[in-house]
Amino acid sequence: MNLQEMYGELGIAPGVWQFGQTIEKRLKERFEEIDAIAEWNQAKVLHAMQKNRVNAECFAATTGYGYNDLGREALEKVYADVFHTEAALVRPQITCGTHALALALAANLRPGDELLSPVGRPYDTLEEVIGIRPSKGSLAEYGVTYAEVPLLPDGSFDYEGIRRAVTPRTKLATIQRSKGYDTRPTFSVEQIGELIRFLKELKPDILCMVDNCYGEFVEAIEPSDLGADMVVGSLIKNPGGGLAPTGGYICGTAECVEQCAYRLSAPGLGAEVGATMGLMQSFLQGLFLAPTVVAAAVKGATFTAAVYEELGFRCVPAANETHHDIIEAVELGSREGMVAFCRGVQMAAPVDSYVTPEPWPMPGYDSDVIMAAGAFVQGSSIELSADGPIREPFAVYFQGGLTWPHAKLGVLMSLQQMIEAKLVTLPDEK
Ligand SMILES: *Cc1c(COP(=O)(O)O)cnc(C)c1O
Repeated sequence: MNLQEMYGELGIAPGVWQFGQTIEKRLKERFEEIDAIAEWNQAKVLHAMQKNRVNAECFAATTGYGYNDLGREALEKVYADVFHTEAALVRPQITCGTHALALALAANLRPGDELLSPVGRPYDTLEEVIGIRPSKGSLAEYGVTYAEVPLLPDGSFDYEGIRRAVTPRTKLATIQRSKGYDTRPTFSVEQIGELIRFLKELKPDILCMVDNCYGEFVEAIEPSDLGADMVVGSLIKNPGGGLAPTGGYICGTAECVEQCAYRLSAPGLGAEVGATMGLMQSFLQGLFLAPTVVAAAVKGATFTAAVYEELGFRCVPAANETHHDIIEAVELGSREGMVAFCRGVQMAAPVDSYVTPEPWPMPGYDSDVIMAAGAFVQGSSIELSADGPIREPFAVYFQGGLTWPHAKLGVLMSLQQMIEAKLVTLPDEK
């Protein structure tokens, strides 16, 4: 059996496979660039692990209060070194990215302070955290006000608008790196650095927090290298490397991280408590794998753009653009397109491949959401996944892939399903 026949066993028609091969050949140089970043980041992670003397004792389980958890202490030092920050809080008790972001905000804002988003509307789930959509326990209920400056029509920062929006009460600026469920471009770390510099010139004591979800290890530097006071994310995305079964992180200044630790546990307890129950091996090993896992995901995203743009769909980023996160948005233009695409990604999964994803009203989102995820870790989106809210422009967000061959299969299978649903035809079959 040759490779094309092997793909046939998986349900990929010869024409789809050939089309994929043609596209993949064009991406050789791009893939080399992606591998070079992975190599850099691998060295960065390894250096941090060696410097902090990670050893087998770090993998022992702690229970109860979790005092003197060697693994947790090493892990947090490693994260701080990787992100070049003074401190880090990396915990299984931080349940997801939204929790990490809510924690960083609630810990560092006080009644009467104002939170500013200079990059437009933040990620859906943050609307309830902030109180843009009323919710129990929102920042708004605690007397924290919120201001937002939309991006300019071309997706760039509205510096004049930001200048007007910063007031003496502006305590913290939240900057979302990734597009999230939006079709604006993702910001490069360089762009975020420029924005932080601008904000700090306007008001030197403003805290700059970057929602780093999906951005970690896509570039050689992180927003904390360019002045962010906190970078925040989820361990079931990039930095968990597919192995962390839960968790979130906040890396930043000692002051900001201490506030977060006190808020996460209790005033007076802070980072000293928090049993890790045997998870430190997967957190550390996941971080060790993360640079190459992220590279596989970026290759998958690049391949998605090249395939779907060729077929006439708008992709963000476009096929000739560089990725600043692992997400590829494909505007499929219809609910049916989203369903077929996601069905294909699900069929390519190692887990739950026989399940059919359907749109559903997911908590925290204001429209129905469809999600394809056949993951070892429930909801993990560093594993191959595709999702999106069922609303204009009916964009599906493709991300993850622990290995490049799996990401490739996912893209080919989505295309196979689109073809079978008669939503696309291959160029030579038109
Ligand atoms: C995933 C994500 C979050 C947090 O989502 P969780 O599902 O709670 O982990 C926040 N912001 C962005 C940009 C994200 O991609």
